[in-house]
Amino acid sequence: MTTKIGVCNLCEAICGLQITIKGTEVTGIRGNPDDPLSRGHVCPKGVALADVYADPDRLRSPVKKVNGEFVETSWEDAFNIVADSLARIAKAHGRDAIAFYLGNPNAHSLGALTHGPQLLKAVGSKNVYSATSVDQLPQQLIATLMFGHQFLVPIPDIDRTQYFLIFGGNPMASNGSLMTVPDFPQRARDLRARGAKMVVFDPRRTETAAIADEHVPVRPGTDAYLLLAMLHVVFADDLVSAPTWIDDLSPVADLVATFTPERAEQVSGVSAATIRRITHEYAAAEGAAAYGRLGVSVQEFGLVCHWAIHVLNIVTGNLDREGGVMLTKPAIDVVGRGVVGRGGHGRYVSRVRGLPESGRELPVATLTDEIVTPGEGQIKALVTVAGNPVLSTPGGQHLEQALDHLDFQVAIDIYVNETTRHAEVILPPTTALERDHYDLIFHVLAVRNTARFTPAVFPKPVNARHDWEISRELILRLERRLGIKRSLKDRLRISLSPTRMVAGLLRAHGSGVTLAKLRKRPSGIDLGPMTPQLPGRLQTKDKRVRLLPDLIASDVRRLDQLPHASADGLLLIGRRHKQDCNSWMHNSPRLTKGRPRHQLLMHPEDLSARGLRDGQLVRVSSRVGSVSVEVQSSSDMMPGVVSLPHGYGHANTGQTHAAQVAGVSINDLTDPELLDVSGNAALNGVPVEVEAA
Ligand code: SF4
Repeated sequence: MTTKIGVCNLCEAICGLQITIKGTEVTGIRGNPDDPLSRGHVCPKGVALADVYADPDRLRSPVKKVNGEFVETSWEDAFNIVADSLARIAKAHGRDAIAFYLGNPNAHSLGALTHGPQLLKAVGSKNVYSATSVDQLPQQLIATLMFGHQFLVPIPDIDRTQYFLIFGGNPMASNGSLMTVPDFPQRARDLRARGAKMVVFDPRRTETAAIADEHVPVRPGTDAYLLLAMLHVVFADDLVSAPTWIDDLSPVADLVATFTPERAEQVSGVSAATIRRITHEYAAAEGAAAYGRLGVSVQEFGLVCHWAIHVLNIVTGNLDREGGVMLTKPAIDVVGRGVVGRGGHGRYVSRVRGLPESGRELPVATLTDEIVTPGEGQIKALVTVAGNPVLSTPGGQHLEQALDHLDFQVAIDIYVNETTRHAEVILPPTTALERDHYDLIFHVLAVRNTARFTPAVFPKPVNARHDWEISRELILRLERRLGIKRSLKDRLRISLSPTRMVAGLLRAHGSGVTLAKLRKRPSGIDLGPMTPQLPGRLQTKDKRVRLLPDLIASDVRRLDQLPHASADGLLLIGRRHKQDCNSWMHNSPRLTKGRPRHQLLMHPEDLSARGLRDGQLVRVSSRVGSVSVEVQSSSDMMPGVVSLPHGYGHANTGQTHAAQVAGVSINDLTDPELLDVSGNAALNGVPVEVEAA
């Protein structure tokens, strides 16, 4: 038996692992106590990496459809079918006829980050979609608009903060998101032990709200009123303490003047007194951090919410302050070195609905429209990479029907899932334990400065391909068929392995951390706590924060003029569990055992008002569809709000375990027409009706 140092790439916490192996078998996985960031933490999903590696359902060779069934084929055959089909469609209909959908695991794979963008560039289609626009798009866009780069995201200094305000985030289940914070449970215990306070705003008493000092329920979709009211209090009660490098605050003060706490109370259900008290407590703390995540991102005013959170931190002097929110200083700075683009907005629009791009991606809520609507530029081919948009995107059932309109579909994926089962070809890459890893993205978003390179635990099997090798092969074959001329720089980029690229980037960054040093210390190198870096690290041309972007000013005015929504009826929100990993991992035996957790959660008063009982099968209906699911009585829910987990609703894809996981897809209820101004889907706060099935 041998113990190897590995890393979990299933979520943003990037926990270090100690992996015991015997031959090609994993015999044990535990947290690595020597890892300077994760400090020995591991969650049930990390241990289940062994299940993914050994999973009999996982594809290990390419497959193609023959008479409606997948059969194994050679890489050569599979690559040729894909390249021939994509080239044929590009020649006949133009490059925009080829669409890409990139799933969340792309951000967790070094090879996907180094070579995936080159594949997109080679095809050159504007029809690029990803999980970003059903998740964190408002956060990336507001970072671009205010700080000059989509990954210049201030991170809560959780290990030193005195007051932690969380809006719509559940790090007890997620271990942080756009805040890489492995071992959140211990960090939260430490926070409270030093006398700091944690307050959670959420329509559900989440796992995080349950351990907080205070949980404040908020009606879904109304957080913008709440946050603008907090800003109103900061200005009205003279709590402003902004740094000298922040320009004139008066336009912001004017903008929030009409958003009083009393107005927010009417809409959000949070009392004006609570809003005033918490704002004063937060402003008075010696180092306070306001943080928002998915709950305030996937709603109609998600961009305004995340702007207001940044401004709250700025005007109270908590940006770039110890214990406030700060910028991580990674060994490879993908922001400062331009490795990842700075982002942008509205440089072109989608064909059918005229929705603006953000960061060179179109909102995935319009993918179905672009497939089914005839005309020049109609999508004819779809390439999904580690994604399952049928379960992950609004109106998923309509997208599944739309897939029949395609001339060709290919997936780079290790599973047959609800989306990839419609593909003609699936190209399965290696998995996490078979490839080297350096985290280009999540070191940039972590609560502490660290660097870590983990070599593959197992060698690549003889007939396997890494994801970057698949991208490279497709680029080369498409290049020949489409006559693509590539620059020398681009040719060099695809010829280097991701590991060699990491070595080069470390050298170029000059932090003193080299690949050789990291290889000697595979548990990682600690580079210390976050330190003040502003305004120098801003990526705006004049090194100033853009305090009030035009897009925000106009959207706040739109909010100001909206009639107050009726508080009658039920609103649907999503939820995540510690044992679930978005739409996958539901065929891991160790994650799917135990009590079912797919039910619709509903407050007991809402149940009795409808004559329903706990455990009963109910029909949940929205404007776009309906599902039948068991209801579970839960006093953790705010009255008037119901919740389904996302990533459920598996079809029988012929896999061993997946068909046994009950549940329905929340995205059969969410509405592709409900969008934030950024183009992000408003998945939370969907009006629904619930009745006996
Ligand atoms: S929290 Fe769990 S899923 Fe996330 S990286 Fe750590 S072990 Fe993996």
